[in-house]
Amino acid sequence: MTPHSLDPRAPWVVSTHDLGRRPGTMRRMHLTLPAPADIGVDMIGVPRGADVELDIRLEAVMEGVLVTGTAQTPLRGECARCLEEITSETEVSFQELFFYSAEDAAEDDSLLDGELLDLEPAFRDAVVLTLPLSPVCSDDCSGLCSECGIRLADAEPGHGHEVIDARWAKLQGLVPEHNNDQES
Ligand SMILES: [Zn+2]
Ligand SMILES: [Zn+2]
Repeated sequence: MTPHSLDPRAPWVVSTHDLGRRPGTMRRMHLTLPAPADIGVDMIGVPRGADVELDIRLEAVMEGVLVTGTAQTPLRGECARCLEEITSETEVSFQELFFYSAEDAAEDDSLLDGELLDLEPAFRDAVVLTLPLSPVCSDDCSGLCSECGIRLADAEPGHGHEVIDARWAKLQGLVPEHNNDQES
């Protein structure tokens, strides 16, 4: 549950003052907000402070205010195969009902703080769900050379190394053809 202590000046805190409490009243907003810190998984996330574009609809319902929205956000991360920096964008949608009263709400539900609500948790949850655990710079990224570590996309075509397999080296003369006398 949202603690009853929202800062009205915090960028992700939105006032529902204009909406009133009459069910059916609706209001649309377009907002550009700075991305909060620490939204991401290991290899990719939202750069802190980046512009997030939100289109939201606030709708008064019996129990509270229903927020339905989409957010477009830049992403920055690292290719899981070749470790190149990746920058991309994603669009997520979210919906959250903010209850007027804790009595109507369950443990995990969100609450209004007077006329204020905080969009950040809903945005955060929606983004984290869409992030790939193994982001790639391109679908056919072939990663790094297992011998020398060069990024294969930057290497000469057919990049490779002359490697003599240790097992073959053994077979080339070191092991007798017939070693049936294994008595000890
Ligand atoms: Zn890559
Ligand atoms: Zn190599």
